[in-house]
Amino acid sequence: MSENQKIYVVGHKNPDTDSICSAISYAELKRRIDGDAYIAKRAGNVNEETQFVLDYFGVEAPAFLAEVAEAEKVILVDHNETSQAVDGLEKAEIMEVIDHHKIGNIETPVPIYFRNQPVGCTATIVYQMYKENAQEVTKEIAGLLCSAIISDTLMFRSPTCTPVDKETAMKLSEIAGISDIEAYAMEMFKAGSNLADKTPEEIFFQDFKKFEVNGVTFGVGQISSMATEELFEIADRLKPYMTTAREEQGVDMIFFMLTSILDESTNLIFTGEKAGELVEKAYQVSCQEGDYYKLEGVVSRKKQLIPSFMGVLQ
Ligand code: MN
Ligand code: MN
Repeated sequence: MSENQKIYVVGHKNPDTDSICSAISYAELKRRIDGDAYIAKRAGNVNEETQFVLDYFGVEAPAFLAEVAEAEKVILVDHNETSQAVDGLEKAEIMEVIDHHKIGNIETPVPIYFRNQPVGCTATIVYQMYKENAQEVTKEIAGLLCSAIISDTLMFRSPTCTPVDKETAMKLSEIAGISDIEAYAMEMFKAGSNLADKTPEEIFFQDFKKFEVNGVTFGVGQISSMATEELFEIADRLKPYMTTAREEQGVDMIFFMLTSILDESTNLIFTGEKAGELVEKAYQVSCQEGDYYKLEGVVSRKKQLIPSFMGVLQ
């Protein structure tokens, strides 16, 4: 291995604010403690919410990494599942994983630093690592990490949110000079659900993940909003696209979660032969107006929807 070989720090495809901000912040930490080989990358387009955050703190988006080449080195943040990772990962050398999701299917030929904590956001873990390494968290880094926590925990409303996430976000908001965190969160989510000039396809893939359980493949997209009426408009735009999305993704079922942050509920639209049956078994609910399910209290794909679906499919 050459001395100056780059090491890419990269989050999942269809990156969210956590995947972008944790990659930037962790690459910065690694550069400070371990030299300048570390470069943050992104595995997809920056969404509107994340762009708002980057602009707010005057930080540039990482460069796009379309594919990793043979023997390139990567650190994965905010995922540990090959189906969500940058293309070419099987040829790459995975150096580390920093994540807060269920353990997926990443395999390595040698031991690596694998850090997974059941907290609400990768950014919470990255903050801990700054502290463990006695590194100063700058105003910009604090702003990025704080925003990632607000985003992943839906401003502390998600059941994935732990007291540590909340405490960390409050500390970071002070460093970042965010005087009113609720108001800042509102602005951030509003930027994220500004979809007027977007195609259904762009909305659909803004936050989309694929899963496989016992040979059944399915994809789940999600959008969260503070404005419930807006979610119905988005649903109307997405419904005609669902079948195309399923065919293009080559999966058995597709679901899209339209999550109301204030109501703490999700309207779930779906396509695929057994999709409705799966939802009904998982939640004992019946279909509304023939084409969606209302899931009260469900806001988290990771902690609520996926485990319920897996329970049925296993
Ligand atoms: Mn994420
Ligand atoms: Mn995350």
